[in-house]
Amino acid sequence: NGKIRIAIAGHGNLGRGVEAAIEHNPDMSLAGIYSRRPAGQITPRQTETPVHGMEQLRSHADQIDVLILCGGSKEDLPQQGPELAALFNTVDSFDTHARIPEYFAAVDPAARDSQHTALISAGWDPGVFSLNRALGEALLPDGATYTFWGDGLSQGHSDALRRVPGVAGAVQYTRPAKDAINQVRKGGRPDLTPQQMHLRECFVVLEDGADAETVREAIVTMPHYFADYETVVNFISAEELARDHRAMVHGGFVIRSGTTSPGTTQVMEYSLKLGSNPEFTASVLVACARAVHRMHGLRQFGAKTIYDIPLGLLSPRSAEDLRAGFL
Ligand code: NAP
Repeated sequence: NGKIRIAIAGHGNLGRGVEAAIEHNPDMSLAGIYSRRPAGQITPRQTETPVHGMEQLRSHADQIDVLILCGGSKEDLPQQGPELAALFNTVDSFDTHARIPEYFAAVDPAARDSQHTALISAGWDPGVFSLNRALGEALLPDGATYTFWGDGLSQGHSDALRRVPGVAGAVQYTRPAKDAINQVRKGGRPDLTPQQMHLRECFVVLEDGADAETVREAIVTMPHYFADYETVVNFISAEELARDHRAMVHGGFVIRSGTTSPGTTQVMEYSLKLGSNPEFTASVLVACARAVHRMHGLRQFGAKTIYDIPLGLLSPRSAEDLRAGFL
């Protein structure tokens, strides 16, 4: 039917987000969901979507144009990325920033030797924010770039809160510090550490009999996670936690503050306010899958990043259409 056949490897938040995103892209179809868990444990959004074991992938190579890898960056992708790039064109959202060069080096030969195109570390950060950081510096060489995250729910910090004795349940939001953002928006170039740019707000449900002040002290002094930040702790009921803090909100700002001649400041700002982090990330991955399919057609093999994609290839529109409508 001429559609780009997409498959999903791994069915967590991101995998479910990819299912939803494909529904908004009429040039694509969902070929199937592949999971390490038994098919009976996976509930697809559309009942007719085929669900298979991950081990079936190898024999389905001729049914899939691009495989979107939705496994976790910590445990799953370091293994799945190189393995699956040897069998398919792939897109993933590997987000351990410090280990991206190492991950690229593992995926590249697998994709190159098998003549596949493997886009790594797509999403919003890394991903669309990375594009904006590079663009800001390229257009305003005399300047400084600032990335603020939030308001966003941090999974890692929420897990750390839940390990504090006396805590029955908790979530943590990272929020950009308003003073810092305002300074940068005015064209200032302050020296700011991540700690000065963000604050951490916690919503905590206490266990029966736990002392609030003891728990608060344990949280705000926790090294690495909270001790270096301005940290606010709010105590709430289990009902409030369940009712008000389920959405995986996130977002942030990339701001470039630069100077083009003495006294002339220029500020570039890109911002995201996301009602669902995984659903937005998945939307980016799906657009990237279109580009990967086209780049593979152009025989551009090997590992790629978002910097290697000509922007027009992300769009379902033709180059002619883009010139007429958007340029
Ligand atoms: P997740 O929900 O934990 O899913 C990760 C994997 O765990 C799934 O692929 C799934 O594999 C398995 N899994 C999911 N639910 C399970 C369950 N109930 N029991 C057992 N296994 C389960 O993680 P996620 O929220 O989708 O995020 C995936 C990755 O996306 C993150 O690690 C992060 O690195 C990345 N990410 C990137 C960006 C960006 O902007 N670049 C943004 C957000 C997230 P199987 O189906 O094979 O079991």
